[in-house]
Order: sequence, then structure tokens, then C-alpha cells
Amino acid sequence: MADKFLSKRNLKFLLYEVFSVDELNKYEYFQDHSRDTFDMIIDTAIKIGTDMMYPVFQEMDTNPPQYIDGIVKTHPIVKTTMREFGKGGWINANQSYEYGGQQIPTVIQNVLQFIFCAANYSLNAYPGLTRGAANLIVHFGSREQKDQYLEKMFSGYWQGTMALTEPDAGSSLADIRTSAEDTGLGYYKIKGTKIFISAGDTDAVDNTIHMMLARIKGAPAGVKGISLFIVPKYRSNKNGEFEFNDLTCTGMEHKLGYKGSPICQLAMGENGDCHGYLVGDPNKGLSYMFHMMNEKRVAVGIGATAKATAAYYAALEYAQQRLQGRKITENDPLSAQIPITEHADVKRMLLFQRAICEGALSLAVQAAKYLDLATVGEESEKYDLISDLLIPIVKTYPSEMGILSASAAIQCLGGYGFCRDFPVEQYYRDIRIDTLHEGTTGIQAKDLLGRKVTMKGGKAYQLVIEEVSKTIGQAQAIPDLKAYAEKLTEALDAFKEVTGFLLEIKQRGDLEKFEADAAIYLEMAGVVVVAWQWLLQATTAARALASGVNESDSNFYHGKLYTFQYYYKYELPKIEGLVAVLKNSDAITVEMKTELFLD
Ligand SMILES: Cc1cc2nc3c(=O)[nH]c(=O)nc-3n(C[C@H](O)[C@H](O)[C@H](O)COP(=O)(O)OP(=O)(O)OC[C@H]3O[C@@H](n4cnc5c(N)ncnc54)[C@H](O)[C@@H]3O)c2cc1C
Repeated sequence: MADKFLSKRNLKFLLYEVFSVDELNKYEYFQDHSRDTFDMIIDTAIKIGTDMMYPVFQEMDTNPPQYIDGIVKTHPIVKTTMREFGKGGWINANQSYEYGGQQIPTVIQNVLQFIFCAANYSLNAYPGLTRGAANLIVHFGSREQKDQYLEKMFSGYWQGTMALTEPDAGSSLADIRTSAEDTGLGYYKIKGTKIFISAGDTDAVDNTIHMMLARIKGAPAGVKGISLFIVPKYRSNKNGEFEFNDLTCTGMEHKLGYKGSPICQLAMGENGDCHGYLVGDPNKGLSYMFHMMNEKRVAVGIGATAKATAAYYAALEYAQQRLQGRKITENDPLSAQIPITEHADVKRMLLFQRAICEGALSLAVQAAKYLDLATVGEESEKYDLISDLLIPIVKTYPSEMGILSASAAIQCLGGYGFCRDFPVEQYYRDIRIDTLHEGTTGIQAKDLLGRKVTMKGGKAYQLVIEEVSKTIGQAQAIPDLKAYAEKLTEALDAFKEVTGFLLEIKQRGDLEKFEADAAIYLEMAGVVVVAWQWLLQATTAARALASGVNESDSNFYHGKLYTFQYYYKYELPKIEGLVAVLKNSDAITVEMKTELFLD
């Protein structure tokens, strides 16, 4: 049943054979873990995904939350899931023992995220957002705040949210207007409006805790004047009783996909009585939020990978059963029709999906391992820099390419792919959010080219190039992979050349032109980085085959090698076109005037 939406074999290949994540257990923080504990956690997560989450995946789409009398009514499974996740320790599994967690590595946490999102993305959003919000309190909250909020959030009785966006402040958070006035009584009075807040209200829990950005009256303009507040829907009074905190859900958007989770409009302080509690220092809110945002951006990449993967398995299942047409070499019109998986074009579409999904998953696991090494390893600064540079790619590649992958899944089903009887149309709608939330692709692109490539004198960029070069060196020692290692060397050289070309434009002070094609640069970075991941996987598969394996493993590794070859023959060459665009010195998109669109 798990193979309905993911491959457990592939997960274990990546975790143990490619990335040896069990090596993390040598560090004191993870010392209580072993491959056995990881396997047990993963197997249990797959069971939860299969038995509890996947069965309501389509039902939550057809019965989305309803906004009735100022309250958002969600599917009954949301309450069950929050409680079960709380009871099972899934919301705080990655926390330290101090916070009741299991101290699992980020890489295992991300694999759990992958499993739950593949099973039911909308449903996973509720505990997922609660985990992220609680994590902010763990990192930046006071002792009192931790005591007051964490237990209820980790046990699934209180929902957590991330409340940033406002009608006039989406990508540009510097412009948020929600205000906070210090009362001198240990709380601020919050006033303003938030929109698009995921799980911003639900009847599945007893309280909702918003981690909200607001501007303290008199604070500097721009990003330097934004603070972080805990703003609960119900606050506790002096007697420890809960009372309404003047925070109202005023409505809900109706969306293309990801329908099982509501996005809410919130009004704070309509009666002048909404209390907010400052987290950490004033005016540091955005940097605190970015701490969580990095985690959330990786989570978005994983969520997109998971949805595309589930779509791939649905397409594969259908394609194996659908009989249609005959081989071009078959002349007898009365001969039996063949499964469509026998047609090269259908195999091409399946290979495309697998190349995207397994390449993106490998990148996510790789990035998560770097994040762990940044926390516990001896070279934490190095791994911190590498993961920081990779995050916009980890978020964007699966989000953008996952849409194309889910589209190919629909194509494999022909007309049935367009119909609600099969799940692929839902995956296609559900995945469309991922290029938008947690920073659009345009914003990720500016982050990569405008900030990450040059940060610390280009050190992160150099370190990533070194990591890719290391993989190339290992692959060159395997005769069958030598030619592919050469192709990646060429791609890396092209990437370095393009980077140098763009940085020269920056040095000349033409900033608008420098960043104009940042999204194309990010696209190219994604193709090259995923080619690196495929070479890494191919090296592991080739070594395993050389050491002698049983028939089932042999099929698995050969499948990997075909998909790897597909990536290098069909996907990697796309960078030639991207290089041509990036090195074109015209600045059409800068020069085009808005009024010329109008006639
Ligand atoms: C389903 C869903 C769930 C969400 N959940 C949450 C949530 O839980 N909490 C929360 O706070 N928010 C949430 N959001 C809001 C989301 O983060 C924003 O929609 C997103 O940041 C983009 O902001 P915007 O919609 O205002 O678009 P805009 O910022 O108006 O962007 C529109 C377009 O302009 C481009 N653009 C904008 N500025 C620039 C620039 N400087 N340079 C180049 N291009 C630019 C963008 O890339 C984009 O293509 C959610 C949104 C959705 C749809």
C-alpha cells in the first residue's frame, strides 16, 4: 500500500546507501539513535500515512473547510490527526529531550515530512505548521512562554500558525502595517489585518497560536522595525481562565488546490483588546522568522517532491494496467493491445517524472544532512554556508519542476488524467501552491543570485562547487560513469562562467539588469545541482551492482541507472538554452515599458 504514493526502497537507498545518515549517530546529540530506530520511525510513519492520511486525501479535497458563523469547520480527521500526532510525539520528534522530543536528525524529520505529505499534503499542514510555530518559541521564547504554550502545541490541542502576510505586504514584508503598542503590563495591543494564514482558524483544536509579525509603535521603517509576537485566539487571564483575545477570522479564500487546509483572513484588535506577547527582542522579528522560514522553505521543497512522487506512482499504476495500441512492428490488427508502458513515449514521461522526483528527493536529503552537520559537526560553519546557499534551490526545483512532473502524470492517463476519478488532477492542483508560498520563485531567485552567491565573499558558492567536484572525482573512477562525470564538469564550468558574467554586470553597478534574469539563473542552478545528485546516486548504484546483488536489488539499481541516464540525456542539455539566455547582453525585460503591454 505504501507503494501507492512513495517507494520505501528508494528512501532507504538515499538514507543509508547514498548519504549514510546513520553516521550522524556518532555525535553525542544523536547517540541514542541507530539505523533500527530510524527504520522503526519511518515504518510507523508510512503506516500512519497509509492507514489514516491517504484514505481521506481525496475526501478532504471534495469537502474543504467551511467558514460558518465566524468559525472554520474542518474535516473531522483533522482533530483525530492532531491528537494522534500529539500522542505519538510526531509534532516534537525533532526537538531535544528537554522539550519532550526524540532528538531525531533533521534528515529523518524531513523524510517523515515527505511521507506525510505524499500521503495527504493538506492534512499534514496542521501538525506541520504547529511544529514550525512551536519551534520559534523553543528558539526565541522566554521560559514562561515555553511553559505556557509548548505542551499544548506539541500534544496537538493547540494549532500553531505563521502570520506574516497582509493585503499590502506579501513578498515585501518590509511593508507590514500590523501595529503593536506597549501597554507596560507585559503585553502589547495588536491592531491590524492578516491574510492567507494557513490553518488560521479551525474547530479541530481548543486554541490557535499565531506567530505574528507586527511593528511596535515608533519602530524604524522597513525590515529593521519588525517584531515577533505570540498572538493567541484565546488568552489566559489572571485566574488562568481562557478568554477571547479579540482576534477574529473574518473569512477564508477559495483555492485551486491544497483545499483541505484553510487560508484565513484575520482581524486583530477590532475592539481594541487584542493582546500580543513579544518574543525575544524588539525589532528582531524578521530574523527570528527567517530561522523558521529556512526550515519551512526546505519543507515546501519536500512537500512538492512528495506530491509529484505520489502523482508519479498513480500514473505508473494506471499505465501498467491500461491496454492501448500495438507495437509499430506488429502488423496484425486483431492482436492483443499492449500496456501503454510498452510505448517509448509513455516510458519517456515516466522517466521524466522519476528523474525529477528522485533527483529532488536526493537533494532534499542531502541538504538536510548538511543542516544536521551544521548543528552537531566539527565543521558547522562550512555546512551552514552550504545549506544556506542550497535552500532556494531545494525549495524551487521541486516546486517548479514538480508542476511539470504532475502534468506528465496527467498525460500518462490520457483523458482520465483530467477527470476526478483518478488522483493525478488533484496532485496537479495541490502542487501549484509551492512556487508561491514561503517566498515566490522570483523571491528565491533574488535570494540566490543577489545574496547567497556573494555572501561571505562567495565562500558558500565555492564550497558548493567543491562538493560537486568531489562527486565528479569519485564518479571518474568508475569506467561506465566517466563520460557522465565529464558532462557534469562541463555543466559546472558553464555555471561558473555564467555566474562570473552576471557578477561583472553587478560590479558595473547595473543592478536591475544583474537581477533581471535571476529566475533563469535559479533554474540553471537547479538543473546542475540535481545532475550532481544523480551522479551521486549513479555512483552508489554502480558500486552496489559491481559488488554483486540479488535480482530485486539488481532491478532497483538498473532502474536507477536508466533514470540517471535519462536525466543526463534529456534534462541536463537544457542548460545550453539557459546559458544562451543568461549571457545575452540585451536587457529586454528591464527596458520593456508597462504602457507597451497595454496596446
Ligand atoms: C495557499 C496559501 C497559503 C499561504 N499560507 C501563508 C501562511 O501560512 N502565512 C503567511 O503569512 N502567508 C501565507 N501565504 C501567503 C504567501 O506567502 C504569499 O502569497 C507570498 O509570499 C506572495 O505574496 P503575494 O501573494 O502578496 O504576491 P506578491 O508579493 O504581490 O507577488 C506577485 C508577483 O510579483 C513578484 N514580485 C513581488 N515582488 C517582487 C520583487 N521585489 N522582485 C521581483 N518580483 C517580485 C512575485 O514573485 C510574484 O510573482 C499563503 C498563500 C497561499 C496562496
